[in-house]
Amino acid sequence: MKMHVLSGGRLRMEKHIYLPEAARGEIIDLPVSCFLFRHPQGNLLFDTGCHPSVAVNPEARWGSLARAVVPAIGIGDNVVSELRRLNLMPSDIDIVVNSHLHCDHCGCNEFFSKATIYVHADELAAAREPDMERNGYFQADWKHPMPIVEITGEVDVFDDGRIVLLPLPGHTPGLTGLLASLPNSGAHLLASDAVAVRENLVLEIIPKNIRNRDLHARSLAEIKRIEKSGATVVYGHHLAQWSALKTAEECYD
Ligand SMILES: [Zn+2]
Repeated sequence: MKMHVLSGGRLRMEKHIYLPEAARGEIIDLPVSCFLFRHPQGNLLFDTGCHPSVAVNPEARWGSLARAVVPAIGIGDNVVSELRRLNLMPSDIDIVVNSHLHCDHCGCNEFFSKATIYVHADELAAAREPDMERNGYFQADWKHPMPIVEITGEVDVFDDGRIVLLPLPGHTPGLTGLLASLPNSGAHLLASDAVAVRENLVLEIIPKNIRNRDLHARSLAEIKRIEKSGATVVYGHHLAQWSALKTAEECYD
């Protein structure tokens, strides 16, 4: 099994959202990441990043949220283009796992029309709430005809222990991480927004965009336990770590 790290766009936000002690007006650059797994039983994509249209007209898709979550995305910086660099079409993806349904994590779902979507049942419920757009959920991102597998707990996707989905709620009700066991590169825990930037884990700084702090604390403890067992934690939006990861054409095996 191989893991490729793909860009799903980039955002700019006020830094104090993630690190509350940061000065007002200080801006942080947040890479958006997606991960392709080439497993003998199929191609699995973890998160689909931002929709390509937000590179040119973010408010058309995200409304007023685009003023707080500002895309800083070059034309063509999206997961579909990244897959093309690997000679893959969206139709080559068999499974899409959404860590959660915020607009920067499932924005390209519509392109993966041959895939089955895996998402936590509590996340779907949150995305269906009446005021969902205020919470970062947009139907255009996630409401499509593809079959959805609603997960409710740990899922070993291919029944071989290589890709295990782990509920890590807190940032959102159904946030799900992915624990990959790679033969040479070792275990990698893709934490998504359970740990957006490194300081949220290492210094236990609680970001402001956490829906449930008690659940988040429990998820952080679980992530630390997995890290202690030897896994590399891949943060959701940490620029320095992102810059050091291998690019799409390279891979972790
Ligand atoms: Zn999020």
